[in-house]
Amino acid sequence: MSKLVIVGTVAFDAIETPFGKTDKILGGAATFIGLAASHFNIDAAAVSIVGGDFPQKYLDLLSNKNIDISGIEIVKEGKTFFWSGRYHNDMNSRDTLVTELNTLADFNPVVPENYRNAEIVMLGNLHPIVQSSVLDQMVNKPKLVILDTMNFWMDSALDDLHNVMKRVDVITINDEEARQLTGEYSLVVAARKIHAMGPKYVVIKKGEHGALLFHNDEVFYAPALPLEEVFDPTGAGDTFAGGFAGYIAKTGDTSFENMKNAVIFGSTLASFCVEKFGTKRMENLENEEVHKRLLQFKQLTQFDIKLA
Ligand code: AMP
Repeated sequence: MSKLVIVGTVAFDAIETPFGKTDKILGGAATFIGLAASHFNIDAAAVSIVGGDFPQKYLDLLSNKNIDISGIEIVKEGKTFFWSGRYHNDMNSRDTLVTELNTLADFNPVVPENYRNAEIVMLGNLHPIVQSSVLDQMVNKPKLVILDTMNFWMDSALDDLHNVMKRVDVITINDEEARQLTGEYSLVVAARKIHAMGPKYVVIKKGEHGALLFHNDEVFYAPALPLEEVFDPTGAGDTFAGGFAGYIAKTGDTSFENMKNAVIFGSTLASFCVEKFGTKRMENLENEEVHKRLLQFKQLTQFDIKLA
């Protein structure tokens, strides 16, 4: 089993979907990643920052799931990162209404001493300079570094993003962002271009249409489970990344073959995340439910065709 370091936002979100609207609720990339990774019983730590307005019960939620929170800095006089978004009717696309960086604007992440030798590093969506700074603190070269990012950082810190991309093994990105980053419509061509920017493995998330994993000329595709209820897709990408990273940390196997399973685990966990607003569904998700859905996944994709 490997140690996992997670860096990302721990945040307040306000969300509007065709099914409803929330005030400020718990959100943030590191929160969703941590909740997903907690299903693998691994040694994981979250590195982030919040303000004095952040409720202790949210921090307790993470530590009760065995996520080490000693790397989450609390700035008493500061305010927590706040994001607000509105989903379109198809739920596959959204508009960001507000991004208030608050304490995140001056965030200098500090990886706890006992996690600087972690084998797996999950760089959640954050300023690429902050992501790089986490890598600078690792005492050994990690076995696998996974990076997630979004259009916000492509618009505001593209050069820094290119710099950190050179230092990572896997990138997880959604289809729209892959197109923005490369200027290519075809995701196959986009993946090839992203590959040339640094990451050896490129995961392109396509919301309700699943996820693609590219490595050189090899491609693996995992569909998303067809769900009756999609309530709020917020955090699905991070939950996917947390499932992916957690599975790799648990197995310690970074081969392409094993990454396929990591993609399936990521997709399975993400399929739960979208069933309720924010983190609600992930807070009480039982391993048995995950196991059942993994079996459904297997059935969905398995066929036995006789070829002449
Ligand atoms: P996802 O739906 O997986 O893309 O992630 C949604 C989460 O990302 C929300 O909980 C937000 O708090 C967080 N988020 C939104 N914008 C940013 C940003 N610019 N940097 C870091 N985290 C963000």
